[in-house]
Amino acid sequence: MCGIVGYIGSKDSSSIVLSGLKRLEYRGYDSYGFCFIDKGKASIFKRVGKIDNTEKEFLENNFKGNVCLAHDRWATTGLVTEENAHPHSDCKNEVFIVHNGIVENYKELKEKLIKEGHNFKSETDTEVIAHLIEKYYIGKLEDAVKNALKDVRGTYGLVVISTREPDKMVVARMSSPLIIGVGEEEFLVASDPSAIINMTRQIINLDDGEIAVLKKDSIKIYKEEKESQKNIETIDWDIEQAEKGGYEHFMLKEIMEEPITIEDAMRGRLLEEEGLVKLGGLDSVEKDLRKINNLFLIGCGTAHYACRVGKYMLEEYADIPTEVDVGSEFRYRKASIKNNSASIFISQSGETADTLSCLRENKEKGILTLGITNVVGSSQSRETDAGIYTRSGPEIAVASTKAFLGQLTILSLITVYLGRQRNMSVVMGKRIVSELKKIPALAQKILDNKEEIKKIAEKYKDYKNFWFIGRKYNYPIALEGALKLKEVSYVHAEGVAGGELKHGPLALVDENFPTIAICPSDSVYEKMISNIEEIKARKGKVIAIATEGNEEIKKIADDVIYIPKTLEMLTPLISVIPLHLFAYYFSNILERDIDKPKNLAKSVTVE
Ligand code: GLU
Repeated sequence: MCGIVGYIGSKDSSSIVLSGLKRLEYRGYDSYGFCFIDKGKASIFKRVGKIDNTEKEFLENNFKGNVCLAHDRWATTGLVTEENAHPHSDCKNEVFIVHNGIVENYKELKEKLIKEGHNFKSETDTEVIAHLIEKYYIGKLEDAVKNALKDVRGTYGLVVISTREPDKMVVARMSSPLIIGVGEEEFLVASDPSAIINMTRQIINLDDGEIAVLKKDSIKIYKEEKESQKNIETIDWDIEQAEKGGYEHFMLKEIMEEPITIEDAMRGRLLEEEGLVKLGGLDSVEKDLRKINNLFLIGCGTAHYACRVGKYMLEEYADIPTEVDVGSEFRYRKASIKNNSASIFISQSGETADTLSCLRENKEKGILTLGITNVVGSSQSRETDAGIYTRSGPEIAVASTKAFLGQLTILSLITVYLGRQRNMSVVMGKRIVSELKKIPALAQKILDNKEEIKKIAEKYKDYKNFWFIGRKYNYPIALEGALKLKEVSYVHAEGVAGGELKHGPLALVDENFPTIAICPSDSVYEKMISNIEEIKARKGKVIAIATEGNEEIKKIADDVIYIPKTLEMLTPLISVIPLHLFAYYFSNILERDIDKPKNLAKSVTVE
C-alpha cells in the first residue's frame, strides 16, 4: 500500500531517494520519511502531507549517506502523524525500518515487548518489527530480521538498516510488492518499479518468504535456510506503465488487487475457532452496540450499493432492522430515529460531502455514528464515534472497484460481530468466518478467467443499452454492475431487481437490449431463471453470471460467466468481480478515458 525506496552504494543517496519517493506520490500518500546512515550515524526526517510542501526544509538539511531508506505512508494502523510516519526504529535508535503491509498480531506482540521493557514511540503496527529485530540482534542483522519475522503474522515488504552494520541493507517480502534494482556497485529497493526505473532497468523480483542481504557490491538472497539463485530481469516499461504496475489502466490494476483487498480488510480480524470477529475500531462502543435495535446505512454511489448489500446481511444474520439511504436524500425524510438507533456511514475517501452532512445531522440527533472508510484520519473517521478502516490502499481510478470489495468485506465482518452479540450461533459464526477466509482465493479464480470475460465484452461491444438484473444479495450488485458500465463506457446501463422486470423494464427488451443476469445457485435462483425466460421470450440476449457446475444455464443464456460457490451472503464479494472486468474491457474496446471518465471526480466533496 505504501511506497518504499531504498539505496545502498557510493552515490549521494539523498537526491536518488527523494526523486524516487516523489515519483511514487501520484498515489496520494499521507506522510513520508527518510533515514540516512552516514559514518555510522543515523539521521531521520519525517513530515505529514505532500513532499512538495516540505521539500525545501528537507533539502536545507543536506542529508548525506550511502545507505538510505524512504517511505510514503498510507496509514493502516495509527493516525496520520509525524510519529507514525516511517522509518521506525528500536529503543536504542540503531535499527531503522520501512514497512509496507499489516502486522496482524501487532497488539499481542506489542504487549509482550512492552513487558520486556521496550519503549514504543508510535501507534503503528510496524514499530513492533523494529523492536523484535532489536530483541534478536545478537550477531548479524539478517539473522535478527529472520528471527523477528518468525514472530510476525501478516504481510510485509520490509527494508532494514542498522548503524551497527552500516554497509548492509536487509530486505524481506511476504505478500507485499518489493523489487531490487541492480546498478553498478549499487542496489536500489522499491515497492514499485516507477520509483527506480530512471536509475536502472535491471531488477530482481523478490518472492514471498525471501530475505535479501545487500551490500554495495554483493547480494545474497535466502529462503528459509537456503540461498536462492535469482534471475535479473530487464523491465522495458515506460514510467506511465510502471506506475500502473504494467497494466494499461489503474482500473484494471485495482480490479486485479481485489483478492488482496478482501484479505487485507479481514487481516487479524477473524477468530475462526470461536466463530467471532474482532474489530478494534468498535471496542469503545462495544456495549452501546449491544443495545442497538435499528440501523441506518448511508453512502453515495458505489458505497451506497455496499450499504444495500449490508442491509440484506445485517437483517438476515444479525437480526437488526436496517434502513438504507443515499447521502443526498437522507435528510429530506423524517427517519424514525430512536434512542437505540445507530448509523453507519460508508465512504472510500471519508470526505464525501453528502455522506458527511448526514453524519453531522445524525450526531446532532445524538445517535451513535460509525464509519467505514479507506482513509485514515479522514473527516469521516474523525467525526464518527467509532469506525473501521477498509485498508484497501490508494485507489486512483475514478470508478471505484477494489474499495467496494473492502466495504463489502467490512460489512460481512460487522454482520458477524453484531450477529454474535445477538442470536447468531457459534456454528453459524464459524461457518461465515471460515467461508470468508476462502473468498480471496475464489476472487482470484475469477480474475484468472479474465480472458473469457474480455471475449464476451468484445462480442457485445456494439450494443448501446444493457439491463443488469439480480435478486436479494445480488440486486445491489446488478446496480453496481450497471453503474460501473455507464461510468466508464458512457453506454446506457440500468440495474433492476429481477422481479421488477415485468413491471416496466421488459417493455424495452428486444434483440438490441441485452441483459446481464446475476443468478448464482442460491435461494432466488429459480426466480431468476423465470426472469431470464421472460427475457428470452422477447428475443433479448442474456449473459448469465452463474455458479460453477451449473450446465443447465447454458441452455437458456447466450453466454455464461462462472463464479465459484460460496455462502449466499458472501456471493456479492465474488459476483461483482466479473462485472467490474466486463465494464473495464467493454470500455477499453470503446477506447474510453477509463481512469478519468468525463464529468466525474474521484472524491465528491460538494453537496
Ligand atoms: N501498517 C503500516 C502503517 O500503518 C504500513 C502502512 C503502509 O503500508 O503504508 O504504518
